[in-house]
Amino acid sequence: MLNKESHVLIIGQGIAGTILSYKLSEKNISHKVLDNGHKYAATHAAAGLINPITGRNYVKSWMIDDLLPVAKSTYRELSEKLNHNYVREANILRAMHTPAQENKWFSSVGKPGYSDYVVETPNDNEYKGIVQQASYYGEITQSIQVDISQLVTDYKAYLIDQNLYIEGSFDASALTVTDNNVVYANEAYDYIIFCEGYKGMENPLFPDLPFQLAKGQAFTINFDGPAPNQILRDEIFIAPMDEKNIWTGGTYQWDFEDDSPTAAFAAEWNDKLKKLLKVNYTVTNHKAGVRPAVKGRKPLIGPSPISNLLYMFNGMGTKGTSLIPYFAEHLIQHLITGMPLHSEVALNRFK
Ligand SMILES: Cc1cc2nc3c(=O)[nH]c(=O)nc-3n(C[C@H](O)[C@H](O)[C@H](O)COP(=O)(O)OP(=O)(O)OC[C@H]3O[C@@H](n4cnc5c(N)ncnc54)[C@H](O)[C@@H]3O)c2cc1C
Repeated sequence: MLNKESHVLIIGQGIAGTILSYKLSEKNISHKVLDNGHKYAATHAAAGLINPITGRNYVKSWMIDDLLPVAKSTYRELSEKLNHNYVREANILRAMHTPAQENKWFSSVGKPGYSDYVVETPNDNEYKGIVQQASYYGEITQSIQVDISQLVTDYKAYLIDQNLYIEGSFDASALTVTDNNVVYANEAYDYIIFCEGYKGMENPLFPDLPFQLAKGQAFTINFDGPAPNQILRDEIFIAPMDEKNIWTGGTYQWDFEDDSPTAAFAAEWNDKLKKLLKVNYTVTNHKAGVRPAVKGRKPLIGPSPISNLLYMFNGMGTKGTSLIPYFAEHLIQHLITGMPLHSEVALNRFK
């Protein structure tokens, strides 16, 4: 069992390893974090959006009523701890172009439990003059955008300052597992928790898991004028990060060679931007990453078949920003009290 005497090693310091480390430190549980310098971090390409109503059918995101309060409080606490505000509250305008889409929207958001997430009288003024107008805009509220890329960068500096950071790649040959503990690179730990993002698929300690990786790419752009406050979800996302820098992107590529930015994305996205935008823009950055998505689109959390002292905390797919704070707490409670893992996230559901 995990307790105040325990010592834990986290492998991977994307947003999953970062939040897990923060939650352990809040409970005064000693740990270290090993990462290979964010070499493969999807976190650096992400918009960090939490969107309560998603998809073509405008349905509430899985468990959003539970996930959102924990996410909001966790990112606010981290903003305080690291002295930088990572959280931007901004409503999402959902563009609709056909009567069928409008009908679907109204029949969905009219259901019980949706009123907290939609604005009754949408304000679609901010994007007038900036984009080609849609026939209707639904306005989603309680959405937040978290600068998870800056957060993991700052948290790495914090870990280094606290002497809790080990730079390097996990080396399975340096691991010895006994009944009582695990020794890695001559240091004994009570648990090792793997938060390796898409590289978790190659981890031999957790074989045969149905990862369905999805590469995504994004631009950072500037408009000629100031960026709007709201986020726009038309055919593509326009997600202002501050008054100047705007994230846009989010492609899904299931077959890919590596996690690098490609010229094909740049050409495709410039076409889409030119079609949507009425204003000039400049591309200031182009990023790519691989989402650790899984069959069934739910996280992968649980022990290795090799040892109950080796855990995976992964499978956050397209929604790491909202899932990770809640499920990091859930995993820690599981390790402290022995309470069962949520059946929809436990990795042994695939056995
Ligand atoms: C284009 C794009 C847009 C996205 N937009 C959103 C969004 O708006 N909202 C949202 O919630 N999610 C979004 N996502 C998904 C989000 O990025 C992921 O859910 C999240 O970042 C996963 O975090 P992670 O920590 O599990 O993995 P990662 O961020 O991939 O972190 C894993 C870390 O472990 C390190 N590592 C891996 N293996 C080893 C090893 N063996 N030894 C040492 N270190 C290792 C890696 O280098 C990396 O630093 C987006 C993703 C992409 C690509």
